[in-house]
Amino acid sequence: MEHLYPKVVNFQENEFDKVKDVYKQLENSQSPKTLVVSCADSRVLPNQFSQAGPGEIFSIRNAGNLIPAYSEGEVSNEALTLEYGVEALEVKEIVICGHSKCGAMGGVLDFQNLSSLPLVQKGLSGIHSVFQQEFKAAPELSELIEWNVRKQMENVLSYPFVKKRVEAGQLSVWGWVWDFVDGKISYKISSKDLANS
Ligand SMILES: [Zn+2]
Repeated sequence: MEHLYPKVVNFQENEFDKVKDVYKQLENSQSPKTLVVSCADSRVLPNQFSQAGPGEIFSIRNAGNLIPAYSEGEVSNEALTLEYGVEALEVKEIVICGHSKCGAMGGVLDFQNLSSLPLVQKGLSGIHSVFQQEFKAAPELSELIEWNVRKQMENVLSYPFVKKRVEAGQLSVWGWVWDFVDGKISYKISSKDLANS
């Protein structure tokens, strides 16, 4: 049983004509202004809730909207995508977009019970140890989600090519939390606010 393909056929037959010209214009290049780092969660649709169309958002997605801190000589898919977005595409803003009810952040709170998901547990161990250092008592999930957004902003800012452009006023870094039930950004912080906090 195929779930997604019939929807693709429907799009081809009924919707593609409406956006065909836009894609034609984008055939040989893209110049998105925004890089969004968001969670893999199926309820988080940055293009839908920002009404951004083709060519407007360059994306990094993974469980927990995580970016590893810069480490010279080490590469991850997140790091290479970040470098390409900033240095080659010259995006003007980076948005770390967390979201309400994030399962990955729930996993950080309930870390010991992740033993049946060894890869998830290992993958979240970095942010979990930072969490343990910074929280004496377990926070509410919503508080942890906002904290994680700030941590990932710090990680993004640890890349020299990001820092240089932010300092030159060519790039801004934002943290958002998207509340998908209420349909609003429930938390928003800029890197300037972060530096002053
Ligand atoms: Zn999530």
